[in-house]
Amino acid sequence: MTGQPAKPQIVTQRERLAAALASVRGRQQTIGLVPTMGALHAGHLSLVRRAVSACDFVVVTIFVNPTQFGPQEDFTRYPRTLEADLEALAEARADLVYAPSAEQIYRPGFSTFVDPPAVAQTLEGRCRPGHFRGVATIVLKLFHQAPADVAYFGRKDYQQWRVIQAMAEDLDLSIRVEACPTVREPDGLALSSRNRYLTPAERRQAVAIPDSLRRAAELAAAGERNATTIRQQMRDVLAGAGITRIDYVALVDPLSLAEVDPVHDDTVALVAAYVGGTRLIDNRQLKD
Ligand code: AMP
Repeated sequence: MTGQPAKPQIVTQRERLAAALASVRGRQQTIGLVPTMGALHAGHLSLVRRAVSACDFVVVTIFVNPTQFGPQEDFTRYPRTLEADLEALAEARADLVYAPSAEQIYRPGFSTFVDPPAVAQTLEGRCRPGHFRGVATIVLKLFHQAPADVAYFGRKDYQQWRVIQAMAEDLDLSIRVEACPTVREPDGLALSSRNRYLTPAERRQAVAIPDSLRRAAELAAAGERNATTIRQQMRDVLAGAGITRIDYVALVDPLSLAEVDPVHDDTVALVAAYVGGTRLIDNRQLKD
């Protein structure tokens, strides 16, 4: 008989988390960490499953981090779906969910931030000032609060992954940072907690974002190496679907994130654009 999957332990206090992980360590078990902001979907759960397959004990954090949102951004209306998240995490066989309050994370008088690495300066860093400062700070804090062997991030947030990886190298963190592939809807749209903001019409428009990335890959596969030509065609795909508020369409080196021209097979194409009022990002390597 297969019963319900065992519910993960839910912890909101930092001290309780430390005690739980100390006893895991005492058993010589490996720990995997999956940081999230909740509103979980199959993309997040793919990270959890990867962690479960590789580590003895898996911690998922759920924290909507105020310091990575700009003043005009969607912090207050960001979806919060804790009950459904816990059910999904039981199904995915996470061992512990750490869902701290803001007070657990940011004590009164908190004032120390990570100055993020050079790869944070372009793209999202330019469009969302302070975003990666908030991301690097919360991730470093979570790495300390939940000391793990491996932390799992999605390539969906390509620049974020590179920022965390560079921070881990620069600051001699012993945790290994692993990136997981982007999980997509059947039509190609990358899963995102923000997709739930889209109206049905906007949802149909949004597929132009992965379509524009595919166009870039097809052009490169056909021998086109000129970055300006490829970017223009990507913009044409977006414009054809009525997506005109574009933060960036970029073709960058996979490590430095510097713009490249001509492009190469390992060049990464990235898009950030608004579909209605919702800002979506996506990316792919020209040759997957
Ligand atoms: P978030 O809750 O948006 O902060 O995301 C938590 C983690 O899930 C990050 O490492 C994201 O890159 C990853 N993630 C989000 N969407 C996807 C997706 N569609 N496929 C794979 N990973 C994802």
